[in-house]
Amino acid sequence: MAIELMKVGIISCSGEELPGGTVSRIACRKVLDDLRATETVTICLPLFIAGDQGQREFASNYPTITVDGCDKYCAKKSTELLSGTPKKYILVPEILKRHGLEAPIHRRDLNEKEKAAADVVAEEIARAVDEVLNE
Ligand code: SF4
Repeated sequence: MAIELMKVGIISCSGEELPGGTVSRIACRKVLDDLRATETVTICLPLFIAGDQGQREFASNYPTITVDGCDKYCAKKSTELLSGTPKKYILVPEILKRHGLEAPIHRRDLNEKEKAAADVVAEEIARAVDEVLNE
């Protein structure tokens, strides 16, 4: 019988209008495709909010980490409302501040500093995944 590995659901806010939302999406993509590719799956926030049962059941049955681009906490609040309390919730501006990094100003075509900031956020998400899996 195949052993099913525990996976963590990563839920990024879908913020298109704020640079923090762009950083959130890029950082989550790096975790999902590269840093923790075998330990994570993603959940599509708009589909989740639209009521897709599969997406909601996943977030109910597996640990989730939400990542938000600003303190409106759209991903965290949606997850709490529609599925269950996230194991961890990450706020992009808080991470950038803690690392002494400037807030991004571009919503697309991030400059080199902003790409580096997204990498820092991705590393923090990856660390959070490890913590959830080691609980
Ligand atoms: S958390 Fe902020 S950046 Fe993300 S979708 Fe909501 S308002 Fe937009």
